[in-house]
Amino acid sequence: MQKYAIDERGYYGEFGGAFIPEILHKCVTDLKEAYLRIMESDRFQQDFEKLLRDYVGRPSPLYHSKQLSERYGCKIYLKREDLNHTGAHKINNTIGQILIAREMGKTRIIAETGAGQHGVATATVCALMQMPCTVYMGKTDVERQEVNVKKMEMLGATVVPVISGNMTLKDATNEAIRDWCAHPGDTHYIIGSTIGPDPYPDMVARLQSVISREIKEQLLREEGRDYPDYLFACVGGGSNAAGTIYHYLNDERVRIVLAEAGGKGIDSGESAATIHLGSAGIIHGCRTLLMQTEDGQITEPYSISAGLDYPGIGPIHAYLSSMKRAQVLAVNDDEALKAAFDLTRNEGIIPALESAHALAALDKVIFSPGDIAVLTLSGRGDKDLETYFNVPM
Ligand SMILES: *Cc1c(COP(=O)(O)O)cnc(C)c1O
Repeated sequence: MQKYAIDERGYYGEFGGAFIPEILHKCVTDLKEAYLRIMESDRFQQDFEKLLRDYVGRPSPLYHSKQLSERYGCKIYLKREDLNHTGAHKINNTIGQILIAREMGKTRIIAETGAGQHGVATATVCALMQMPCTVYMGKTDVERQEVNVKKMEMLGATVVPVISGNMTLKDATNEAIRDWCAHPGDTHYIIGSTIGPDPYPDMVARLQSVISREIKEQLLREEGRDYPDYLFACVGGGSNAAGTIYHYLNDERVRIVLAEAGGKGIDSGESAATIHLGSAGIIHGCRTLLMQTEDGQITEPYSISAGLDYPGIGPIHAYLSSMKRAQVLAVNDDEALKAAFDLTRNEGIIPALESAHALAALDKVIFSPGDIAVLTLSGRGDKDLETYFNVPM
């Protein structure tokens, strides 16, 4: 874990760090001092493993897709995070973070959410642990994502519509940070991806790394070797991708292909392809690549997929891309939609639109016979049905 691991200052190369208001300094330092000790404790490991097994439904299957394998002339496996409780990988992180929060004596949880998926995963574990939960969500998103808002409320969370800025994810995050500044003593902020100030990116990557730990065991059983030739995942903030690649980072036999959202095309002005279009700057408390104007204003991202519609990217992925350890491809809306319909018709699996970006990236790689590829299907498509219904079939 040396070469691509976070350094003791909390950086991956030039990316990462903690850029936070002074008032949060103690909160973030306390978390940094506690998270590894807690995560390595027997109590945490037992509780985390048990909940992942009995509550989330892990291990998630590694499914050999005959249809995709035939089409691409190699062996393609799908890592089925779509089968987790609440329908995506996000629950791995929220379960882990609420256990850490409990261990640190925190009694209240806050979160930000864009499309509502992370909000639902957070409200779910708060119901499980009987902790009060406040979720900040841009007003525009509240109106677009009624079902997820209703789910969070049914789970007992308070959803606060945010009316500043464009009233989307970035504004919700600002509001969550403001709340945290007002209640630094009793509140833990559950960030939903490998973003935010150090130690969040590393903590979230470790919590999601159960994905690659399972892939190793499952591949060894199926193939007699514990590594694939290729790993594929989509990247919004980068948590499902980080979990998918975590235990393979130093294994250079494994090629890493990440799909970011090209939107209507990277040159169209309507895109969320941060690695292609971004430059270094500070967002959500860390230094990373982000989409911004020349004078440093964050540009509103666009993607058909709400979960990839984020103007930044986890610092680990900015670093892996700069080191050429990961190949990052931009996948456009129409390519993702086509891939989603193909998988649905040919395998009977309706994928999340985010995951469909990873599926479409298969088209952009030239495989050799005998190659083994593992693609993380980060979530199921139930939440995207409305978008799918509007596609002419
Ligand atoms: C939120 C979400 C993503 C994007 O988040 P990452 O942190 O990049 O993994 C991808 N897929 C699904 C299904 C999601 O809900």
